[in-house]
Amino acid sequence: MNEAYRGVLEQLVAMSARLGEPERDLVILGEGNTSAAVDDDIFLIKASGRSLVGCGPEAFVAVRRPAVMELLQRETATDEEIKAGLRAAAVDPEAAPPSIEATFHALLLGLEGVRFVGHTHPTVVNALLCSRDAEELFAGSLFPDQIVLCGVAPLLVPYTDPGLPLARAIREGVEEYHARHGVLPKVIFLRNHGLIALGATPGEVESITAMCVKSCRVLAGTMAFGGPRFMSPENVARIYSRPDEALRRKLITK
Ligand SMILES: [Zn+2]
Repeated sequence: MNEAYRGVLEQLVAMSARLGEPERDLVILGEGNTSAAVDDDIFLIKASGRSLVGCGPEAFVAVRRPAVMELLQRETATDEEIKAGLRAAAVDPEAAPPSIEATFHALLLGLEGVRFVGHTHPTVVNALLCSRDAEELFAGSLFPDQIVLCGVAPLLVPYTDPGLPLARAIREGVEEYHARHGVLPKVIFLRNHGLIALGATPGEVESITAMCVKSCRVLAGTMAFGGPRFMSPENVARIYSRPDEALRRKLITK
């Protein structure tokens, strides 16, 4: 274990334990998973069945990213083949098996600027993601700080079976988002499931997660007053490109 590895593990454990704090209501029991890139080749991810609540270093395993990406390229694979593939991708063959969601973590850690990933199931976010009209509710942005932290627009991925199908659906969603907006998403909403925050630092993942929870509380609040009125594309673009907001984004996500 070299120094870079130890440093990233320490940061990942601290971020994960904070995301798992019960009073934040982001996850309960074994819900959610987190990951971090050590270098271009190796990443750390929560082991299958481990809890983020009060987690320590033993909750994480080191995995080879190219080996997981190879699984993602396969046309067809059974759950058993995927599990065996993920086990084989672990740096230490004796280590606990990585989370079944290692496929989407490997994919997202390959995006430019993404070093930490936090996937949670916050109650208020899921209240909206599990609602009848989620597609309409996640069609726009509500207030400036949401755009500063969470990006130009929400990305909502349709409900998909966990594991490989979900990773493929996320890849498709990210590609479409990039083609449409010219930038990568900062957050991905999974219908009937939860959210994924992408960050260069643990602080960015935590800030994005907190802002998503707040924006969903605001969104739920608008339902009592006639429903949301989204900001115009012009105002969204203005906030997203303002130099003072870029500086604020940097300071907030340190
Ligand atoms: Zn999940």
